[in-house]
Amino acid sequence: MASPENSTKIDLSGSCLCNNLKYHILLDSKDDARTTLCHCGHCKKAFGGAFGLTSKVPLDAFRYKRDSGKPTVHAGDNGFGNTVYREFCHKCGCCICEYGEQARLHFRYVALGSLDDPSTLPPKGEFYCSQRESWMPEIPGKVAQFVKM
Ligand SMILES: [Zn+2]
Ligand SMILES: [Zn+2]
Repeated sequence: MASPENSTKIDLSGSCLCNNLKYHILLDSKDDARTTLCHCGHCKKAFGGAFGLTSKVPLDAFRYKRDSGKPTVHAGDNGFGNTVYREFCHKCGCCICEYGEQARLHFRYVALGSLDDPSTLPPKGEFYCSQRESWMPEIPGKVAQFVKM
């Protein structure tokens, strides 16, 4: 019964700031993506902001476009004994995605701000709320709060 017209499949595109890296995400539905904030110290450093904001998508839904440059990968301990990989543009420094060792072959945590339309995937949860900046209010709508990734 499913026809392309009725399909909920969504095709999202994104890039780094200088457009060297370009990707798209093909999801069966928005439910396949889970956007979360992370208040941990490593996300603050990695993203240069008050929190990390990524959307978890299946690895096979994420693909660099044919005319995209190659990402540079940084691997480092996340402070809790797990290796986290971050793919970024060596030209402009923009982070495209990250993933831990266990997620490496299954998921990508895409930096939400690198999407052409970040409003498509609003947050569903928060990590490390104990490290939320004191001036920052909770996300309205009572998203789930997780203790660790
Ligand atoms: Zn770039
Ligand atoms: Zn974090």
